[in-house]
Amino acid sequence: MTEHLNHFIGGASFEASDGRRINLVNPVTEQVYGSSAQGTTEDVDRAVAAAHRQLEGGAWSQLDGAQRGQLLSKLADLVERDTELLADMDANAIGRSPIEPRRMDLPNAIANLRAAAGWANQLEGRTIPTGGYFGTKTLSYTVREPVGVVGAIVPWNSPLMITVWKLAALLAAGCTVVIKPSEETPQSALHLAVLAQEAGFPDGVINVVTGYGNEVGRALCEHPHVAKISFTGSPEAGREIQRTAGVLFKRVALELGGKSPQIVFDDASFDDALRGCALGLFANQGQVCAAGSRILVHRSIADRFGAALADAAQAVNVGDPRQPGVQMGPVAKKAQFDRVNRYIQLGIDQGASLLAGGVSTPERGWFVRPTIFTNANNAMAIAQDEIFGPVGTLITFDSEEEAIALANDSSYGLAATVWTTDLVRAHRVAAAVKAGAVGINCWSPLDANLPWGGVKTSGIGREGGFAGAVAYTEEKVITVLLPS
Ligand code: NAD
Repeated sequence: MTEHLNHFIGGASFEASDGRRINLVNPVTEQVYGSSAQGTTEDVDRAVAAAHRQLEGGAWSQLDGAQRGQLLSKLADLVERDTELLADMDANAIGRSPIEPRRMDLPNAIANLRAAAGWANQLEGRTIPTGGYFGTKTLSYTVREPVGVVGAIVPWNSPLMITVWKLAALLAAGCTVVIKPSEETPQSALHLAVLAQEAGFPDGVINVVTGYGNEVGRALCEHPHVAKISFTGSPEAGREIQRTAGVLFKRVALELGGKSPQIVFDDASFDDALRGCALGLFANQGQVCAAGSRILVHRSIADRFGAALADAAQAVNVGDPRQPGVQMGPVAKKAQFDRVNRYIQLGIDQGASLLAGGVSTPERGWFVRPTIFTNANNAMAIAQDEIFGPVGTLITFDSEEEAIALANDSSYGLAATVWTTDLVRAHRVAAAVKAGAVGINCWSPLDANLPWGGVKTSGIGREGGFAGAVAYTEEKVITVLLPS
C-alpha cells in the first residue's frame, strides 16, 4: 500500500502549499513505500495561526486543568487501544522490530499521558509575603500560565514516545503545539493528532507539519508566535536551533545526543552486566540517545567480558524484523548506514581491534552487523563520537578513580550505568559521574515520573516528571495594594 501523508492543521488534512513531497523509503528493501508533504513556511504559518487562535480566546483557553486532564486521560486510552498500530508505524518506518516499541515506547508514552493528566490540575502558583509598597501593605501571588505555542521538533529513533514526552507535558500546562516529526517517521505523530481529535481536543490545539528541518524546523524557530522550541535530536541541529530561536528569546529545551559509559567493576554480577551492556548497545540497533556505547571494564575481567559480549553480538539474529526470530533490523536510513560504517572503518584505522562485526556490505537493506571493539582508548573517535548504531567500544581501567575519569572524559553527559555489587561504591560513582541520569545495575531506566535530559553537549533542560510540565509555563507575579 502506498502511503500518502499530509499535514494535520486545525483538525484537517493539507498538502504542502507548493505541492512538494518527500519520499518515504523502507530500510529493509530500500523501496519507496509512500510520501509525505514537504512543509513550507506558509504551512508553518497556517499551523501556528491555528495553535495561536486556540490560546487567544479559543475553546482550549477556556478549559481548566481538570478538563485538560480529562482529555489527556482519554487520549491515553486511545493510544492504548491503538498500541499495535502505533508500534507498527514506528517500527516499519525505521526497520525496527515492533516488539521493542510495543514493550517499551508505547507503555512509556501511555504512562506519560496518564501522569500528565494528573499534573494538569496541579500547576499552582504561590502566595509570597513581602515588605509592602512604600509603606502600604500588599498581597503578592503568582500564577502559572502556559508559555504559548510550542514548536516540538522530534527525531526518528523513537518517534511516538518522544513526541508524547513533549505533548503530554505541554498540554497539561495548557499550551498548544505544532509538531514537526522527522522526515523519515511522520506516521505516528499524524495518527496521534487524529486520536487527539477523537478524544475531544479542540481543533488547532495539536497540529503536525511534516517536512525537513531546514524548512519546517527553521520556520518554527523563527516564527514570532512560537514561544518555545522543544527539540530532541543531534547536537549539530541543536546548536543551529539555539542560534535561531535563542536570539529571538524563545524558550529553548534541547535533548541531544550521548556517548554513555557502562562501568563494569570486577565485583559486578557478570551475567547481569553482560545482559545490560548488550541491551544498551543493541536495543533499536543502537539508535538510542542513551545507548551504552562506551563499555569501561575493570582490567581483571576485561578479556572474559569482551569475549562474552562478542558472543552476544554474534548471536544477534540480524534481518527483516518482520520475520520470526529476527532480533535486529537495519539502521534507519542510508545516511546512518554510511555513518556507522565510516566509524567502524575509523576504529580499525585508529588501531582498535574488532572482537565482533566490522564494516557491513549487505546486498540490499541498511543492515549493520553488531560490532564490538577492544584495544581502544578514550581518545579514539569510536570512544568520543556518538555513532548511533550497534557499535560498542571496550576500554579497560585499573581503579575506581580511573573509571570515573574515563566516564567523565566526554563532551557528552546524558546517561551512565554502574555495574557493581558494592552499593557504597555504586553511590560514590553515581555521584561522581557527570550525567543527567545514572542507572545502578540497570541500563537507562525510563519512567514518566522521572526527569530526563543531559549535561554538557547532551542538552539543556529536562523532560518528564512534574517539573517537565512546569517547564511549559511562565510564573507571573500579581501584586495588589491593600490600603488600610
Ligand atoms: P537530527 O538533529 O538530524 O533531527 C532531529 C529533528 O530535527 C528532525 O525532525 C529534523 O528534521 C530536525 N532538524 C534538523 N535540523 C534542523 C534545524 N536546523 N532546525 C530545526 N530542525 C531541524 O537528529 P536525528 O538524526 O533525527 O536523531 C538522532 C539524534 O537525536 C541523536 O543525536 C540522538 O542522540 C538524539 N536523540 C536524543 C534523545 C534525548 O532524549 N536526549 C532522544 C532521542 C534521540
